[in-house]
Amino acid sequence: MTGGPRRKAAVIGWPAAHSLSPRVHGYWLNQYGIAGEYGILEVPPHDLERTLRDLGRLGYCGANLTLPHKESALAYMDDIDPSAHLVGAVNTVEVLSDGRLRGYNSDVQGFRDNIKTSPHYPALKKNHAVVLGAGGAARAVCAALAELGFKRLTLCNRTRERAERLTHQISNSEAVDWESRHAALKDADMLVNATSLGMQGKAPLDLCLDALPRSALVADIVYAPLYTDLIRRAAAKGNPVADGLGMLLHQARLGFALWFGRDPEVTEQLRREMMEQL
Ligand code: NAP
Repeated sequence: MTGGPRRKAAVIGWPAAHSLSPRVHGYWLNQYGIAGEYGILEVPPHDLERTLRDLGRLGYCGANLTLPHKESALAYMDDIDPSAHLVGAVNTVEVLSDGRLRGYNSDVQGFRDNIKTSPHYPALKKNHAVVLGAGGAARAVCAALAELGFKRLTLCNRTRERAERLTHQISNSEAVDWESRHAALKDADMLVNATSLGMQGKAPLDLCLDALPRSALVADIVYAPLYTDLIRRAAAKGNPVADGLGMLLHQARLGFALWFGRDPEVTEQLRREMMEQL
């Protein structure tokens, strides 16, 4: 273990007990021999502001935020990183040395880096991507796709107005009706499910993949279950796939680097250990 004071972070959610974050950060702390800890704070919405304000006093150097706090926490930050502005939500908080709170969103980086490190990335064409969803995660995915250099994005969301609003933030993007999602896959180089459909306890994603070119990379940001119906069907069709666990692991790197001072690696061993927890 390295010397110095023991640094402390946590995930704040309601509920939060199911979160994989303590395992991910615990793995890295152990891997790098860093004297730190990462816990769980179950905090109801009415207690969020007080908890955030108390973080520094209680010895925390930061926190991750999960449902339902990611959007409401924006109001309690003293300083908002452009990443959180862009996504409209905070998932990573840094307690600065003067006690002020800085909010970040690591989902753009998480999605982008997971795709960039995928074995399928070198062969990926970047003309057209189709994104299902227009919530916070979809905003991060669209920003990441723009950073990756996609020339054109088609956004498809059940509530079309939300997708329309998102097109104002992302250049060269257009919104289409939810009913058009099957046909929209024609000519796509990449398809991303950024809705909560297909997640354990949620409705399945009803999507016909017939029009999707076999070369298109199919990414699902849902990670529970790891092999969603979309990922299974796409892989069975012969498409390259990227699952949601990769994004989750890559998005966790920012917080670890801020709090514990080291940019950690997403390795196959970490992935295997986390898969056992799902
Ligand atoms: P959100 O803001 O609540 O958005 C949910 C999205 O799903 C919206 O686009 C919503 O459409 C759509 N949706 C929900 N139920 C639907 C239905 N029955 N039919 C059609 N569309 C439906 O949630 P979020 O924060 O964006 O998160 C979305 C998913 O991403 C969650 O499963 C979350 O766990 C996952 N996620 C994963 C990671 C990762 O690291 N892998 C990171 C962040 C989030 P409407 O706009 O019409 O409601």
